[in-house]
Amino acid sequence: MFSVRRSQRLSNKERIQIQLEESESQEEKTYSQKVTKRTTKSNVSRQNIKKARVKKTDLISESVEEEDKLSNNSAQPKQENKNLLLPPEKDKKVSHKTMPSIKSLESVTPLLLRNFTAKKLVGAHVSAAKGVYNSIYNAHQIGGQAFALFLKSQRKWNSPEYTEEQISTFHKALKNFTYSSNQILPHGSYLVNLGNPDGDKRDLSYKAFLDDLKRCEQLGLKLYNFHPGSTIGKCTSAESIHFIADGINKAHQETKSVVCVLENMAGSGNVIGSKFEELRSIIDLVKDKARVGVCLDTCHAFAAGYDLRTKETYKQVMDEFEKVVGFKYLRGLHLNDSKTELGSKKDRHELIGKGYIGLDAFKFIMNDVRLDGIPMVLETPFSGDAGYAQEIELLYSLVEK
Ligand SMILES: [Zn+2]
Ligand SMILES: [Zn+2]
Repeated sequence: MFSVRRSQRLSNKERIQIQLEESESQEEKTYSQKVTKRTTKSNVSRQNIKKARVKKTDLISESVEEEDKLSNNSAQPKQENKNLLLPPEKDKKVSHKTMPSIKSLESVTPLLLRNFTAKKLVGAHVSAAKGVYNSIYNAHQIGGQAFALFLKSQRKWNSPEYTEEQISTFHKALKNFTYSSNQILPHGSYLVNLGNPDGDKRDLSYKAFLDDLKRCEQLGLKLYNFHPGSTIGKCTSAESIHFIADGINKAHQETKSVVCVLENMAGSGNVIGSKFEELRSIIDLVKDKARVGVCLDTCHAFAAGYDLRTKETYKQVMDEFEKVVGFKYLRGLHLNDSKTELGSKKDRHELIGKGYIGLDAFKFIMNDVRLDGIPMVLETPFSGDAGYAQEIELLYSLVEK
């Protein structure tokens, strides 16, 4: 739906980029649906979710007005922004107008207590609407020990730079909520295609890519997850892989520390990265191997034919990953069930345990020591914040003592 509206506004030159986006657009669609579904009033039972009062913190000093001014993220609808800043139903007496933004956390009850001692860092892709630092609060609220965010609007090539104040607020928020950079896996723009054979379009993508990497460094984030790219049917996979690696190499020279984390894809159309071998080929061409990594999306892997459903097949897939890519490159996971069958090549996320992958696969994941200490991010549809809290709790419940 978004794509159609967007393409009406775009020039012909930009439409090619949109084609790529559409080929992997489900993620964005589910994300959009998800955010529009979010309301302050959750109908999800919170029976099993522990409640905790958050200690008073002097986190953020800006007023709501100042925050509006600082906001540069227009990716989510305004309506949702308000909701995310409101306390849960219980504290509804505090209206949005009088609620001094996220600085008065003494009035906030998280939906789920964070499991600070867990070896698995489970969280979700949260909103960064109305200021990038709000992602930290949103992650904490759902009991996330990890989280993903968009660094800027996903539907625009250019976004305003962060202000000094936004950056320092982000740093303060990280400290107050005790998140470190290894728990955070920002997600790149869907518009970007480093593998595009058209030089002009590739340049445009590269600039947006580099801009995101610089934002990571401003915020003190070390990981950056992105979709490798697409041939758009106009060059070979090998050529596209070279373009992608070139982009990463160039970006490494223009940045200091951020790690470029390649996401495995579902395998539709001309998209690069659905096979472990393709990810390996990109890594092989990257000069600074310490600054390249991989993020495994369970839904994408399953759609691409990697069967995670039984103990035996899970082991086979992970052994193959180790052989072809290597766990030392694994820097994150996207935890999603799949609405479509094994090898469907379709990118259709489903709630954990409700899709074709099933809960067992997530049990294997939650008990695989090779996956300790890396961000594991839910991108499941229709959950809303309360839903995410439940899914996070569900995943942790799968850990065998
Ligand atoms: Zn996806
Ligand atoms: Zn993705």
